[in-house]
Amino acid sequence: MDLQFFNTLSHRIETFKTSDPLGKKVGLYCCGPTVYDFAHIGNFRTFIFVDMVRRFLEFKGFQVKHVMNITDVDDKIIQRLNASPEKITLRDYTSIYEKAFFEDFDQLNCLRPSIIPRATDYIPQMLELIGKLMENGIAYQTPDGSIFFSIQRYMALGGKYGQLVKINFDEVRVGERIKNDEYEKENAADFALWKARVPGDGEVFWPSPWGEGRPGWHIECSAMSRKLLGETFDLHLGGEDLAFPHHEDEIAQSEGSTLCKEGGCKPTPFVRYWLHFSHLLVEGKKMSKSLGNFYTLRDLFAKGYTGREIRYLLLSAHYRESLNFTLEGLNGARSALSRLDECLAKLKELAGAAEASGAPSDLVQNFDDALSNDFNLSAGWAAVFDWVRQTNKLIAEEKLSASEAARLLADWARVDAVLAVSPQKKEEEIPAEILALLEERQAARKAKNFARSDAIRDELKSKGWVIEDTPKGPRLKRI
Ligand code: AMP
Ligand code: ZN
Repeated sequence: MDLQFFNTLSHRIETFKTSDPLGKKVGLYCCGPTVYDFAHIGNFRTFIFVDMVRRFLEFKGFQVKHVMNITDVDDKIIQRLNASPEKITLRDYTSIYEKAFFEDFDQLNCLRPSIIPRATDYIPQMLELIGKLMENGIAYQTPDGSIFFSIQRYMALGGKYGQLVKINFDEVRVGERIKNDEYEKENAADFALWKARVPGDGEVFWPSPWGEGRPGWHIECSAMSRKLLGETFDLHLGGEDLAFPHHEDEIAQSEGSTLCKEGGCKPTPFVRYWLHFSHLLVEGKKMSKSLGNFYTLRDLFAKGYTGREIRYLLLSAHYRESLNFTLEGLNGARSALSRLDECLAKLKELAGAAEASGAPSDLVQNFDDALSNDFNLSAGWAAVFDWVRQTNKLIAEEKLSASEAARLLADWARVDAVLAVSPQKKEEEIPAEILALLEERQAARKAKNFARSDAIRDELKSKGWVIEDTPKGPRLKRI
């Protein structure tokens, strides 16, 4: 089945076809983190979805060039930098949060993108793009030296503003300007491409043909994606809040730069498919520090949850539905994963070193069909847990040979290449303290000291581990 999903550009479900003549290569861009603080679990819902989309494209046989930028200069970063008590450079400040971001990213088993450009390394490309917009009269300079994008002029030359979201043009204030990077649809107005240096910017500025200043947020992504993926590319992803104004402005800048001054040229399309992910709510509300429902990944690690449990929960609902995050939900994720782990452990034991043989189970096909249908993750998980149920039954009835068990494990590996919820090496390791207790219990049993061996069993339980006695010896399992 071909992959289909909801393209925000056409406002309907479409079959995905890459622009590559051989049908293999896909150019994918996602707006990356703004590095001024630790990312929260809502941000990571978006990045995990991006990872799932990339992995599923690879599962379908595409070769993905995945670009995720780092926004390392914008209004919020400059505010925080200037409020920081120590004197520190922009790069030193943002690299603290960039490093933290990737530590969390790895814990969630997200694949590193193919290219991770930092905005501040692409200032020349931004100036070139602004230059093109100036040349064809779509951008103009204000008396303070800033450069703005003229929506009216863009539309007069044949550009389309409002491709992703409907804009009420009666409310677009012609010639009015907005300098903030973030604003509401009702406030649509000419937006800043280049912000002239002001004292509040401190040392954050670059020279330009129009005077010292810094880029607006939107031009950053237009310039980086063009440089790394070309004038037109296949797929652009981001959280739903970015559709307006950020993505709408990215389209206007990129397509506007391909128009001609005299009018009459057709814009070169910027992106062929757009995917937007719904937001994460926490306990039914928008996450905010004042509501006390604001979680970073680190907060959840401190409570004893693991990256794979968080990943599982964040991947449990459809990308076009908001997900309500609760700690009970996370506990549910833990028990669902332990059901899966248990089945896989039994399969591994049965398979030993055997080679896989026999026809693939339905798992891979059912999972493929589910995700090809607008990334229907609920149906994907249903396919996984149906397979777990059937596999457990076959094991209980002793109907699986070693090579059949190996076959089932190979099927799971294909699916897990997309879901990526198997334990990472670090998590698989059993802490030394727990192993020492297990050894002591074995010794106590040998010495027929059952009171002691039961006491150890209880102690292990209180630490979150149970012992299962199997014909091959005891096995430790997470509760
Ligand atoms: P930022 O670092 O603020 O630029 O955001 C990074 C990504 O996280 C963007 O794609 C946002 O759309 C996304 N995002 C922000 N808040 C949430 C949320 N509550 N749920 C899901 N995604 C979010
Ligand atoms: Zn962007």
